[in-house]
Amino acid sequence: MVKAIVGANWGDEGKGKITDVLAETADVVVRFQGGANAGHTIKNRYGKFALHTCPSGVFNENVTNIIGNGVALNLPSLMREVEEIVSKGVPRPRLLISDRVQLVMPYHILFDECEEERLSGKAFGSTKSGIAPFYSDKYAKIGIQVGELFDEEYLKEHLENICTLKNTMLVHLYHREPLNPEKLFETCMEYRDMAEPYLADTSAFLRDSLKEGKTVLLEGQLGTMKDPDLGIYPMVTSSHTVAGYGAVGAGIPPYEITQVVAVTKAYSSAVGAGAFTSEILDPDQAEELRRRGGDGGEYGATTGRPRRVGWYDCVASRYGCALQGATDVALTVLDVLGYLDEIPVCVAYEADGKRITDFPTPRILERAKPVFEMLPGWKCDISGIRTFQELPENCRNYVNFIEEKIGFPITMISNGPSREEIIYRERR
Ligand code: GDP
Repeated sequence: MVKAIVGANWGDEGKGKITDVLAETADVVVRFQGGANAGHTIKNRYGKFALHTCPSGVFNENVTNIIGNGVALNLPSLMREVEEIVSKGVPRPRLLISDRVQLVMPYHILFDECEEERLSGKAFGSTKSGIAPFYSDKYAKIGIQVGELFDEEYLKEHLENICTLKNTMLVHLYHREPLNPEKLFETCMEYRDMAEPYLADTSAFLRDSLKEGKTVLLEGQLGTMKDPDLGIYPMVTSSHTVAGYGAVGAGIPPYEITQVVAVTKAYSSAVGAGAFTSEILDPDQAEELRRRGGDGGEYGATTGRPRRVGWYDCVASRYGCALQGATDVALTVLDVLGYLDEIPVCVAYEADGKRITDFPTPRILERAKPVFEMLPGWKCDISGIRTFQELPENCRNYVNFIEEKIGFPITMISNGPSREEIIYRERR
């Protein structure tokens, strides 16, 4: 069977931890989209890790980890990540790279930098990992698929064409040095050596695994609100973050995905610019939650940037779970809220004089104001609790309230960063 683990919100929901937990009983973990622009933070018996490209199954020896065709693959970065986890005592992971994956090239990162510089104050808050230029090239059909590295004549011609296009922009718009096709070819040959040991027809591998009854996890990056079609465009990422895209990005039929675990955090956080309706506007209140949040504070795993924080948003999460097709919801980081006397929960928006509970399109969202309901806090530390019944009553009420508002079953609750800190819950 295939289970997708995806974000119901803006990303940073704790998907890495949930994937790490579920990977214990899985055979294969697949990354199907995105690149090294976001990170999963995972804490387990080997230590604390920030993964950017590696699938979160790398800590489980029995798991085969796959970089699917939908990923924006920065090869040197992936290789560094693998060596880093091995140097910390993790057994060398089993890793396969799709023979259809496309490569993030150094010029994608350069274009990201140039564009952020050009936009200056109006920038998107890109992590400058080359993701938008990469996906633009892929859909403009000038991307480099990894198989091209083994066809030197074809590659040389392709690089000439790429340089002609890119250099026009580089020289005339950004006033930078032009790219040199020979140098790019050398870089490609280095990439070929890096990739070769891992390349496989991963789509065929997955089909065979499924025939053999294996369990496959699809690991999403970011969340529904960052999907270019369904999210808060243009403050989105450049690849689809919804489980539906998992079929495309892993190279499997859509009907194989029978479980979708939508991960949602017990409060909200977002990085970069864009509408964030339930944001905490009081700087002291926000700083307190930011400092207490996640594991060591709400700061970006890739950039270290402070994340914007907000109260739980039922409107966004209901939409986020619906578009993911959630069969299960994992509510994470619940332990962090134990300090509050009462907890605001955003139950609706007000926009243009109307109260709405359906997540609106981006231009309307910009004008939306939150409608909060106050729930009593539980004022104690719930980490270490292993069953739902043992949680304080107000905490159970908080979970039940959210479950009812979003309309999807919360079957997992994470009450601490470690693998063991998880509560399984029956469907009501
Ligand atoms: P991802 O990209 O969705 O995997 O999210 P992050 O890597 O940003 O993870 C969120 C942060 O929260 C990380 O630092 C995790 O270690 C931490 N975390 C995950 N689950 C929990 C939890 O239940 N409680 C606490 N306190 N921290 C958690």
